[in-house]
Amino acid sequence: MSTLDRDAERRQRAAEDLYRHGRAALAAHERDRAHALLQQAVDYDRGHSQAWLWLTATTDDPAEQKQYLDWAIAADPGNTAARRGLGLLTGQIKAADLAPAAPALEPSATTPEAPAAPEIVIIRRTFVCPRCGGRLRFDPALVDLRCEHCGYVEGVTEEPLAGEAVLDFTLPTRQGHRWAEAERRFTCGQCGAGTLLPVGVTSPTCPFCSAAALVAAPEEAELLPPQGVIPMALEAETAQQRVRAWLGQGRLAPDDLRALARRGSLQPVYVPFWRFNSALTTRWRAKVTEGAGRAAQTVWREGEETFFYPRWLQAGTRALPRDLVRQIEPYNLDGLVRYKPEYLAGWPAGTYDLSLAEASLAARAGMLADATRQLERRAPAAQAGSEWQVTSNTFTGQTYQLVLLPLWVGHYGYRGRRFRVLVNGQTGQVAGDRPVDGVKVALLAAMGLAATLLVSVAAWLAYLAING
Ligand SMILES: [Zn+2]
Ligand SMILES: [Zn+2]
Repeated sequence: MSTLDRDAERRQRAAEDLYRHGRAALAAHERDRAHALLQQAVDYDRGHSQAWLWLTATTDDPAEQKQYLDWAIAADPGNTAARRGLGLLTGQIKAADLAPAAPALEPSATTPEAPAAPEIVIIRRTFVCPRCGGRLRFDPALVDLRCEHCGYVEGVTEEPLAGEAVLDFTLPTRQGHRWAEAERRFTCGQCGAGTLLPVGVTSPTCPFCSAAALVAAPEEAELLPPQGVIPMALEAETAQQRVRAWLGQGRLAPDDLRALARRGSLQPVYVPFWRFNSALTTRWRAKVTEGAGRAAQTVWREGEETFFYPRWLQAGTRALPRDLVRQIEPYNLDGLVRYKPEYLAGWPAGTYDLSLAEASLAARAGMLADATRQLERRAPAAQAGSEWQVTSNTFTGQTYQLVLLPLWVGHYGYRGRRFRVLVNGQTGQVAGDRPVDGVKVALLAAMGLAATLLVSVAAWLAYLAING
């Protein structure tokens, strides 16, 4: 990394810090202080669109507000809140046309600064064909939006993934839930999973358990917006083919499984994953024997080792069995692009029920277990046998992203029973539960027994030959 890059990064970090403090000051109704902090933030980073946006909340002067919004849009043309705010200020949009206001940003704070509390503005996005009025759907083959009726195609420009956010438990978590309101939000009465369904889906079923038990979820629940997404690459037909091929593979599976497996439901869903980037430094001590013979003595030796986990994935939902999800990994994370609602057009997405804090703790536990396993395999910890221990561990440089990964979830029936199956929506990798053929298992066991008997007979014959 060049000095220039590092300098830019430092400035951005400083701006982000000032921005956060500015937001906190706003929430505490300290407008002057908020103004000074946010102004400093944009001095450090002219491209900090959100800081420009929130500067509007520090003044009542419409001309000044308009200037800030202009800067916010210049910094990020995709800042819809700023564009909407500008529309309001210039009279292009009437306040009455707006969707009902979301709850206040901080539980205790009122936001009298409307229209300068811009993030409250909600844009309900529907993807409608400009040619025929039909519904646009994200097409995995085209990687673009396509009209289901007339075939009209609208390009989706892929954008590289933005930087990761620093892990910080004082995150303004309420900020995020607005992204989800472009979609309809449900909770499953059977498995409890949260789902966003695209507009226009009739007779909705839960993508995780196929139950037709979806109830509208309370909108005030907080949700962070996803930063990245791997676009769905598999259509239903391909996913079904993968499952059929997989059904014919199991060594212990019944022969008629493929023929009799009843085509069950296979539903697409974008599953939320927390992706962590972290370094873990462990200090260990181990009992080792030094010297030989009489001079041998046992001493404790200490060491330190750092492990890097740049792409640790933690599923954000409890609705899927962890071990099954493991089996359809890995996802190729190079395929991650910046999240856009276009990717969800026509496709359901799960909402996370494992919070960032919970996920981070689970990820740390996982990293620590992995590091311990690696240390165990290596000298001198290994030489020391069981006499060693990790004395301390430190996590540094933790950053995270919330990413949506494509998956097909389904069931198939076999002789009256239901089995779960997952298909990786990027790679086509299948994992699932499979019935086991009792006869095959018995045969295998019998073959093992027969092999043992053969060895015994051979040994007996050899014994006779020697002693006979
Ligand atoms: Zn059309
Ligand atoms: Zn469910």
